[in-house]
Amino acid sequence: MTQETFRALVLTQQDKDTRYAFQNLTLDALPEGDVLVNVAYSSLNYKDGLAVTGKGKVVRKFPMVPGIDFSGVVAKSDSKDFKVGDEVVLTGWGVGESHWGGFAQKARVNSEWLTRLPRGLDLEQAMAIGTAGFTAMLSVMALEDRGLKPGDGPVVVTGAAGGVGSVAVALLAKLGYTITASTGRAELRDYLETLGANEFIGRQDLGRDAKPLEKETWAGAIDTVGGQTLATVLSQMRYGGTVVACGLAGGTALETTVFPFILRGVALLGIDSVMCEAKRRKRAWSRLAADLPPDRLSKMTHKIGLSEIPRLADSILKGQVRGRVVVDVNATPS
Ligand code: NDP
Repeated sequence: MTQETFRALVLTQQDKDTRYAFQNLTLDALPEGDVLVNVAYSSLNYKDGLAVTGKGKVVRKFPMVPGIDFSGVVAKSDSKDFKVGDEVVLTGWGVGESHWGGFAQKARVNSEWLTRLPRGLDLEQAMAIGTAGFTAMLSVMALEDRGLKPGDGPVVVTGAAGGVGSVAVALLAKLGYTITASTGRAELRDYLETLGANEFIGRQDLGRDAKPLEKETWAGAIDTVGGQTLATVLSQMRYGGTVVACGLAGGTALETTVFPFILRGVALLGIDSVMCEAKRRKRAWSRLAADLPPDRLSKMTHKIGLSEIPRLADSILKGQVRGRVVVDVNATPS
């Protein structure tokens, strides 16, 4: 009897260089896990760009199937929590980094890493959201937890035209906040306006040296860029304002002073989507189903097949991808 095969993007390492290949694999190649999933969609995130190009030390062992998230249908289960036919979503937990991930038609994973597809979303929408959108939701929830309300003043979103940024803008707009979108791509202002941005600030206006304290401007901030951008945003926070740091697209170093914290009571909160605990994860997915308008989600998303991942992996690191990229792992290769 011939064994069932499935298609996967596989990364290997040779002389410290990361190489990719498309391979047809059999099920016995998959790692251990109590649930086998027929993957429907994955998505392309900044971290996938780092993994596929080898430009970041994201992959912990080779060979690796990258793809830090996926949605799909349970094909086999040894877990009491899931049965064949259940629709599931997975983001994080080291999948696509230390455990084979979503850039394949099959995945075998630990059942504790799976979340049920929330009511109100289909499998494709779940990956249009993906890790980036999930992170945007966690960021909004962090602002809310510290008491930020729509009437408090403008919220700045940096790296706004990227994946996390686009979902953050759409969510904040739906919730009634006034949003200033920071982007390095002036040509995408119309796009950001359709998602709900009210005002704009150029990437370079935040990515410059800042005084320890500048004019009090923002009541809240969601920063996907890090580095100098984050330092400038901190110096411009209003009294009692909250900054959520979730990304590093512009750098990892943070040179700032204590003044925003001790003279304005500013809070800097960190977001990690990878190890986020199950209860908060579930809440974030329900909120996404309720608060992210589907028409705006579809405006920010485009779909590709597995074969287009390597090209776009490079583009996402260069800040050239707009919004979100869904990967249809079952699309016929072009
Ligand atoms: P994208 O590439 O889609 O978005 C990043 C955006 O940042 C770009 O679109 C661009 O926006 C801006 N940007 C890119 N390069 C630079 C630069 N050199 N200087 C300033 N701005 C730049 O990535 P994602 O949205 O998927 O991820 C955004 C960040 O969030 C990444 O650093 C990622 O690693 C991080 N992340 C963190 C998670 C967590 O758990 N904490 C989970 C998911 C993502 P524009 O053109 O509008 O200026």
